[in-house]
Amino acid sequence: MFVEPHIGREEEGTGKGWIELICGSMFSGKTEELIRRLNRALIAQQKVEIFKPKVDTRYHDTEVVSHNKTKIRSTPVDFAEDILLFSGNSHVVGIDEAQFFDAEIVSVVNTLANQGKRVIIAGLDMDFSGKAFGPIPELMAVSEYVTKVHAICVKCGGIASYSYRLSKDTEKVVLGEKDKYEPRCRRCFGMG
Ligand SMILES: [Zn+2]
Repeated sequence: MFVEPHIGREEEGTGKGWIELICGSMFSGKTEELIRRLNRALIAQQKVEIFKPKVDTRYHDTEVVSHNKTKIRSTPVDFAEDILLFSGNSHVVGIDEAQFFDAEIVSVVNTLANQGKRVIIAGLDMDFSGKAFGPIPELMAVSEYVTKVHAICVKCGGIASYSYRLSKDTEKVVLGEKDKYEPRCRRCFGMG
């Protein structure tokens, strides 16, 4: 389990922020892990703001909802730059479904961290074809801490890092859950 390396250390309080990235396939528990980290900050009475791209409207407009229905209130935004406008004097900024943001998200999270904020990002690292998704590779590069979480392959029970699309749609973004995707390991993803 990820344990925040900075918290409680001497350098805390020097105003330095940092970036954490949680990535993996669908059904790997990315959002649960994001919510776990954010809830612990909320319990410590830190000011937390949470954002997600407007494209992700699967469940509810203003909540970050994970597959197991854990939820936390969030602000849907059109553009990555909107996050700068709305994050104000928060200590911690959470960003869910980061793969759907424009490339500007990279400079946005750098700016937030440079302002002294802790930034926690969750996002899909690969699309349905197994290619790197949107700004996630760059976000990995600029993050201090990267956590890759895994699902379990529905075919063989192995470790799954691919999101296999069950339909024949070929667009990059097809929103959906268990009706549209299943987690698969490298071998079972390749067999189709
Ligand atoms: Zn498998």
